[in-house]
Amino acid sequence: MINFLDLKSINARYENELLEACSRVINSGWYLMGNELSSFEKNFAEFCGTDHALGVANGLDALTLVLRAWKELGKLQDGDEVIVQANTYIASILAITANNLTPILVEPNRQTFNLDASSIRSAISLRTKVILPVHLYGQLSPMPEIMEIAKEYDLLVLEDCAQSHGASVDGVKAGSWGHAAGFSFYPGKNLGALGDAGAITTNDHQLAHVLEALRNYGSHKKYENLYAGVNSRLDEIQAAMLNVKLKYLPDDIKLRQKVANKYLENIKNELIELPKVIHQDGHVWHLFVIQTEHRESLQAWLTSHGIQSLIHYPIPPHKQKAYSEWNNKSLPITEKIHQHVLSIPLDPTLSETDIQKIIDAMNDFSL
Ligand SMILES: *Cc1c(COP(=O)(O)O)cnc(C)c1O
Repeated sequence: MINFLDLKSINARYENELLEACSRVINSGWYLMGNELSSFEKNFAEFCGTDHALGVANGLDALTLVLRAWKELGKLQDGDEVIVQANTYIASILAITANNLTPILVEPNRQTFNLDASSIRSAISLRTKVILPVHLYGQLSPMPEIMEIAKEYDLLVLEDCAQSHGASVDGVKAGSWGHAAGFSFYPGKNLGALGDAGAITTNDHQLAHVLEALRNYGSHKKYENLYAGVNSRLDEIQAAMLNVKLKYLPDDIKLRQKVANKYLENIKNELIELPKVIHQDGHVWHLFVIQTEHRESLQAWLTSHGIQSLIHYPIPPHKQKAYSEWNNKSLPITEKIHQHVLSIPLDPTLSETDIQKIIDAMNDFSL
């Protein structure tokens, strides 16, 4: 069986270095907010091209805390509107509603899965304060246009970079386009910890200062609390794991691009629509997502050929029980995407034989 994602073999490539880093932390006797974290924050900020990177407990917290910090800074108020694509993973929406802000669900471009400048423009109202572009599956949203709109209407931009570590447009990386960005290092992401972890990037010193407190009980100085903060810290062990893996991320991205290009060049089947690439060099291929009207039969066909495939995602946020107030909303492009998408295996450890096996199975699929 070709697994959708083999995390064991992904991490096995660095096993010795990971174990060494682990012992270093164990022997240091210091497990939170120490040298491993500051070193990772420095390295990750450098990687993204930002002044600040702040470790937090996970990707959801990264997004939630940025919006919270903007509220503390008086830039946002309850009920302000946040424009976000309707087909995102639920976490982007949860971060908005957790702050008593209002998500404005916008249909994505049906080929790139990302927001379009024109649909953002038509969603802007007097209460719009934030655009939250989610760089889904590893390809950046149209950031030059989005930043132009933000400037024109005086809006804040929060990038959801959970699937786009290292992705770029015109050489400018994910996480350095907006006013702030949230990253996830969930084990299955392109840069994955060995547990939960996340980070916020920004060039805004004031924002970074507030966030440093918010993630740590609202405190800059022990036992002095400026805000009713939370406990959302990236612990030393995970920071040490991420420091090892960050070094290899650029190579991993190249390997992912190589696999994706093989799929793009060699999968030819009129029943299958391949993903549309806008930014050839800047796409980091977190997921290879095809669309087909015959998803159930294609998935069964792949399974019968020993290939695991997954659906990202089966139910859009507005159809979830958690958001029952939106269940009657009609978002046809989003709903169609959710009915038609299928992700096939793509990771840096796939062998040539497996890649060919996947291409053959995709090409041989018929009704
Ligand atoms: C994974 C993911 C998140 C959340 O990250 P966690 O670390 O799991 O909290 C947020 N947004 C998107 C688009 C994601 O894929």
